[in-house]
Amino acid sequence: MEANTRYRLVADEVAAACEACGRAPEAVRLVAVSKTVGPEAVAAAYEAGARDFGENRPDSLVAKAPAFPEARWHFIGNIQSRRIPDIVAHAHLIHSLYQQRHAEKIDRVAAELGKVQDVLVEVNVSGEASKSGATPDEAPALVAACAALPHVRVRGLMTMAPQGDPAAATDAFRGLAALAEAIRAQLPPDKAAAFTELSMGMSDDWPAAIACGATIVRVGRAIFSDSYQE
Ligand SMILES: *Cc1c(COP(=O)(O)O)cnc(C)c1O
Repeated sequence: MEANTRYRLVADEVAAACEACGRAPEAVRLVAVSKTVGPEAVAAAYEAGARDFGENRPDSLVAKAPAFPEARWHFIGNIQSRRIPDIVAHAHLIHSLYQQRHAEKIDRVAAELGKVQDVLVEVNVSGEASKSGATPDEAPALVAACAALPHVRVRGLMTMAPQGDPAAATDAFRGLAALAEAIRAQLPPDKAAAFTELSMGMSDDWPAAIACGATIVRVGRAIFSDSYQE
């Protein structure tokens, strides 16, 4: 199967999963994580209707985004301060912000570019040492600090669930949803109105994430890998 066929299959499955738990299909955005593939596979998914793509390295973002100006490009990788100008120049949404000093630099760079940068705060809900992100305890203050920056708009939270353990993944998704609700209740009304996104769920666990309230799922291998088996 090619990326266009697999994209359509996953997009249909996402819509069906929404309906199965009483949510509207347009309540969940499917981000096609193209970090392992070149522009040909991106073009195939684009032809099949994909308009949201995810990249985890600034160089790949810079290389691919200008070729697909109608698509929305999501930055989902580790943020290095010196790469923030490249990220802000191309990113529709940054999913992986968890340091206040990076938020402050994003704000300065976005101001220079005349844009307001949408961001999500990444939270390490499971507490695994291998995962990055703010702790659930740190997240409320970080969201509040981001909300105070004029050229940053904090849209919600993101997490990576433990892999290979469906029960632990579901716990992480539920934990992120509950944390977002608690944070939202503390935000001023205008900031709370923008704080609506939950980016959670990848190839192996996106159905559980949708059942727990994901508004964005980030799917790579199930769309772009020839060898992926459900
Ligand atoms: C690679 C990646 C994904 C996609 O993972 P798959 O298992 O290939 O679907 C999602 N989110 C982040 C942050 C990633 O780095």
